[in-house]
Amino acid sequence: MTARVLAGPPAAEVLLQDAAARASRLPAQPSLVIVRVGDDPASVSYVRGKARKAGEVGLRGTVHALPEATSQADLLAVIDSLNRDDDVNGILVQLPLPAHIAEMAVLHAIDPRKDVDGFHPLNVGELWAARPALTPCTPAGIMFLLKHYGIAVAGVRAVIVGRSHLVGRPLAALLLNADATVTVAHSRTHGLPSVTREADLLIAAAGCPGLITPEMVKPGATVIDVGINRVPGAGGRSHLVGDVHPDVSGVAGALTPVPGGVGPMTVAQLLANTVRAAELQHHLRSEG
Ligand code: NDP
Repeated sequence: MTARVLAGPPAAEVLLQDAAARASRLPAQPSLVIVRVGDDPASVSYVRGKARKAGEVGLRGTVHALPEATSQADLLAVIDSLNRDDDVNGILVQLPLPAHIAEMAVLHAIDPRKDVDGFHPLNVGELWAARPALTPCTPAGIMFLLKHYGIAVAGVRAVIVGRSHLVGRPLAALLLNADATVTVAHSRTHGLPSVTREADLLIAAAGCPGLITPEMVKPGATVIDVGINRVPGAGGRSHLVGDVHPDVSGVAGALTPVPGGVGPMTVAQLLANTVRAAELQHHLRSEG
């Protein structure tokens, strides 16, 4: 048996088309500002990709690049001015930030109504209270992917490997809100293979290449590979692999590839969140 491939791009395209259609119904073009501090090559490339994609679907995507030596106070002042600017609907601060800036202080300073990453404590609380407004992009993108491919969530046994604030925890809340029975495993979990073998829906978000091997997967399970790991390849060139061993495709019923699985969903969801933020702000303004 070879697992059904749950490719990201077709699902991301549907999400993007929906975001574009909703954007076109708003009185003004939704606008996303991405704040980048420093010149980390991966961040430069991620930010450029997000801004370009925003333009492709009819959003205004702007990059606000600041030098590496920017102080926390200066960064907070930039965020304050973006918070006050009615022409800005979404604010994203690209992580990681340089070590001299406290990430939490910055994320907490973003107006929760413009928090398209969904990391502000107010949005985290609303998510866990089953009233999600703006939800972290990777987990929300995974939920869209599952829906797109008709994978049942209600009532199933879901196991997430990884408990980060970025992926594992918010995904647990989303799956719980969608009536799955959720287990969150992590590096201190005893007997990980016996936990993962329980899963009808297994999500690997640990950042460990090949962590999930065929023996850890229930036959026929859906496996979502969130991991993006750069490993050395032939001829000294590195390549990207997930957290799921390739042989899992012989056991799983459905599997997301890496690359080309969850990654495209994350960017699409960011733009969907920007449109959602613009809709919420427009609604608030028209309510006076
Ligand atoms: P973090 O490093 O923040 O969290 C990793 C989590 O996995 C932790 O909870 C950790 O446990 C757990 N873990 C690590 N090793 C093991 C292990 N051997 N067994 C069980 N649990 C383990 O990573 P992120 O959540 O930020 O990212 C996870 C992966 O997803 C990375 O590869 C990242 O690149 C990728 N990613 C992909 C995205 C996409 O768009 N496709 C977006 C975001 C991330 P503990 O808490 O105990 O330390």
